[in-house]
Amino acid sequence: MTTPVYQNFINGHFLKNQSGETFAVKNPATDEVIYHVEVADAFVQNAAIESAKQGFATWSAMAPIERSRILLKAVELLRARNDELAKIEVLDTGKPWQEAECVDVQTGADVIEYFAGLAPAQVGQQQMVGEDFYYTRKEPLGICAGIGAWNYPLQIACWKSGPALAAGNALIFKPSEETPLGAIKLAEIFIEAGVPAGVFNVVQGAAEVGQWLTQHADIEKVSFTGEVGTGKKVVASAAGSLKDVTMELGGKSPLLVFDDADISQAVSAAMLGNFYTQGEICTNCTRIYVHKNVYQQFIDELKTRTEQNIIAGDPMNSEVNLGALISKNHHDLVMGYIDKGISEGATLLTGGKALKPDSAPNGYFVAPTVFTDCTDDMTIVKEEIFGPVMSVLVFDDEDDAIRRANDTHLGLAAGVFTKDIKRAHRVIHQLQAGICWINSYGNSPAEMPVGGYKQSGIGRENGIETLEHYTQTKSIYVGMTDIESPF
Ligand code: NAD
Repeated sequence: MTTPVYQNFINGHFLKNQSGETFAVKNPATDEVIYHVEVADAFVQNAAIESAKQGFATWSAMAPIERSRILLKAVELLRARNDELAKIEVLDTGKPWQEAECVDVQTGADVIEYFAGLAPAQVGQQQMVGEDFYYTRKEPLGICAGIGAWNYPLQIACWKSGPALAAGNALIFKPSEETPLGAIKLAEIFIEAGVPAGVFNVVQGAAEVGQWLTQHADIEKVSFTGEVGTGKKVVASAAGSLKDVTMELGGKSPLLVFDDADISQAVSAAMLGNFYTQGEICTNCTRIYVHKNVYQQFIDELKTRTEQNIIAGDPMNSEVNLGALISKNHHDLVMGYIDKGISEGATLLTGGKALKPDSAPNGYFVAPTVFTDCTDDMTIVKEEIFGPVMSVLVFDDEDDAIRRANDTHLGLAAGVFTKDIKRAHRVIHQLQAGICWINSYGNSPAEMPVGGYKQSGIGRENGIETLEHYTQTKSIYVGMTDIESPF
């Protein structure tokens, strides 16, 4: 059986490349190639820039309320096609249908809806300076680039295009080469909704295509989601043309569970924050610090629920709540971390092995894994694993727990479980992380800005402030009096 071949999406339609180069995309749950994609060669790249220039000229000249109406139409189409799009995400990523069906498309659509609403609300300032005055305009940046990771492919494309387009920019988006289809579907939806051709273009490929985007002098901004190491390369490359950057990078986030916490709720948070999307979520609370008075209770319940409630298998089966990891390489990387955890002396509470579920025997599954007796210097406690591997640590002093939680170069997210309202805020205010939860974990509504402290990122996505990252202020001074000149 021949598999489909998808082309790059430029200027409102599919564009064939000239090199003939393609790459294969596999379903992580079956290890089968499901389609091929053409790489964006020099011909496609040039066309993308030209298309975006034209798209920008048309789009930026439209009234914001008109852009808003069109984007809201795209939101309607996204929601109407939820199941079709969710299925693409399941086949591309290996994540469970029961997640994709209610999260991936919805949270993407929510963000476009949110920014569509804000588009006409953006205003400048005016101020008198004597008899003269000045006013400011919020102008779009021009052509922006988006580069996505593979864990939430469609959602990431929406989170980048929502604010970029609402502010009047054109976007050239490169999805991860592991999960390229969702962005193409979004491009088709934008066209159907009435977004002018060239405003949202999709280029396909791996690092070289990403690098081209970061270097191109006509691109004003790069919004990147991916690993810290790649993010550093992107910033360095973008510096060559002094591009604006937004960096959404990795984490090694702590969750602090105090002895007055609702332990079942804390266990729920720990499981969600380590096993949802089979652990492939940037904000995961992979370091769980539990107060010594409730440590045994916490790990007993955690072990029981992990062993009884998790069902791995064919992700399209609606019962399944643990999917396959993205690739064989990533699977082996995660298994390597588990081996390190064991060899460095952590106690394996549960999991620790690859899985071969009957319904998906060739998939890249890893059992939900919990290590206890962890110490701060262990590799599994220090490095981002991006798989279903949780490290549990014990503490008995609040200040010490905060110090240990902050002892990392990363600072994406953090959480605290306690019934003491003063302690909750006192502790959270001291944690060095951009996204924090009290007695909750993982929720990320469109209204809430998200992004990292330290090496977990630069800038924010979502929330009102993100529009600032896609606009520039033009100040206009108006002379009402004669110029006084010494010449
Ligand atoms: P990655 O860094 O390997 O790749 C991300 C993207 O960058 C891909 O599209 C890739 O093709 C591209 N790329 C690779 N090299 C490049 C280069 N030199 N120049 C430009 N682009 C290049 O990341 P990944 O493996 O796809 O995703 C997993 C990582 O993403 C994890 O570290 C995770 O924490 C992070 N992540 C962060 C967030 C967040 O919002 N903070 C969200 C999701 C994922």
